[in-house]
Formats: sequence, structure tokens, C-alpha cells
Amino acid sequence: MDLGIAGKVALVTASSKGLGKASALALAREGAKVVITARGEEALSKAREEIEAEAGEGEVLAIRADITDPDAPARVVRDTLDRFGGLNILVANAGGPPPGRALDVTDEQIADAVNANLTTSVRLVREALPALRSGGAGRICCITSYSVKQPVPNLALSNLARTGLWAWAKTAARDLFPDVTLNLVCPGPHATDRMIQLGGSDSPMGDPGDFGRIVAFLCSTSASYISGTAVMVDGAASAGLL
Ligand code: NAP
Repeated sequence: MDLGIAGKVALVTASSKGLGKASALALAREGAKVVITARGEEALSKAREEIEAEAGEGEVLAIRADITDPDAPARVVRDTLDRFGGLNILVANAGGPPPGRALDVTDEQIADAVNANLTTSVRLVREALPALRSGGAGRICCITSYSVKQPVPNLALSNLARTGLWAWAKTAARDLFPDVTLNLVCPGPHATDRMIQLGGSDSPMGDPGDFGRIVAFLCSTSASYISGTAVMVDGAASAGLL
């Protein structure tokens, strides 16, 4: 299937590893020019080389940035436009918050989680929107978690920040459609560094490569009528009906 992504410009944040990198790789394999970001230099330059092997030399821009810094989204979008002259696809991702039960989390931790996993995505959308609109058929995916449908008991910070983003995205998607689609992509347990840090999973884990290809499909021309959804990629882990 031709996803219609060849030649498009995609910005994928928090993407030197894990699900962000897998999304950037999948988009590059479809012929997109890709911008990746992360804080750590070493993994970022390794990821750039790996993605360049798919996309071709000069088709990948790697930017060092802590994407949760309030000024970073504007800078990263500006650098993308300077390098590639446009932006068609935004995959908004950030690292996950630390674990913690609901009654143990502090005010400061709540503020940090909301900044990283809610406000950062809103900032990215806001900054990317003029370019996404002017390019036509803009696509936005926010990488969140299956916790938007079923809270995870020891991830209270993730649960609260991501459900806020889900409420915001659901509202924004109606304002953006049909010029731009906006969806959440909600991973259950996947085999990444983050999952190892959290102690692994008792249930079967998803393949980050498959996750990336789902993101690529949601960014395709064929996905023009999918917007305002939270696409669960969780191997039936969540038990709710809604
Ligand atoms: P990961 O393997 O730990 O990779 C995280 C990536 O994000 C790295 O490239 C990291 O690079 C970058 N990053 C982290 N914080 C950043 C920041 N402040 N600014 C810029 N880049 C940053 O994580 P993952 O498993 O792919 O998870 C991605 C997202 O999905 C997270 O929000 C996670 O909570 C969520 N999620 C994951 C799973 C899962 O099973 N893997 C399940 C549900 C939800 P640097 O550290 O060098 O910046």
C-alpha cells in the first residue's frame, strides 16, 4: 500500500530510542524526510545514522533538545522549517513520568508530569500548526499510553497527565478537521528501555517496529478520515468497553 508519505516532512520528538525512534524509522522507510530530537547526544547520533540508512543522506535532521523545556517546541519547529522548508507530519512524544501510587505523588511531580506529557504536546501542536495547515493534509499523532482508557495503578502521574491530553486532543481535533487530523496512539507494554526501567511486563509485549508502522499509517493519505481517536496498541491489555 502506498501511504502517500514520500517527500513529506515529519517531526518526531523524543525519538533517539524506543517508540519515537520506531515511528521515525517507519516514516523514513515510507520516504519521509525526518527530524528527530532527544537530550542525549550519543543515542541521537546513532539513531540519525540508522534512520539515514533508510531515508538517504541529508534527509534526517537530529536536534538536541529537552522537549519539555517551554521554548523547545518553537525552536525545533523553526529548525525543521529552516532545513526542509515545510512540515506535514508531527509525532509528539516525550519521556514517561516516574512510577508512583496516586496518594504518594507530590505537587512538584504532578506539575512536571503535566508539563511533559500534556502541555509539551499542546505546545508542539500550536507551533507546528501554521506549517501543517499550509502544507495541506497535515497529520498529528501524540504518543501517549493505554492508561488513557484504563489507569495503571502504579503510574498515577502518567494516568493523570495523559487523560488531560486526551481531553484536550478530543476537543482540538474537531477544530482542526479536515485540514489536519489529530489522533492519540496509545501503547500498552512494548519492549523498549522505558519498559525495562519499569521492570518489564508479565503479559506479552508489543514490537516497537509494529507500533511505528501504525503511526505511519495514521499519518498516511488513506487515514484522512481518522481523527479525534485514541488508537489502542495494547494487545488487548485494557479491559474497558469505552
Ligand atoms: P524510551 O525507550 O525510554 O525512549 C524515550 C526516548 O525519548 C529517548 O529517545 C529519550 O532520549 C527521549 N526523551 C525522553 N525524555 C525526553 C525529553 N525531556 N526531551 C527530549 N527527548 C526525551 O521510551 P518509550 O518506551 O519509547 O516510551 C515513549 C513514550 O511512550 C513515553 O511517554 C512512555 O511513557 C510511553 N509509553 C511507553 C510504553 C512502553 O511499554 N514502552 C507503554 C505505555 C506508554 P533522551 O533520554 O536522550 O532525551
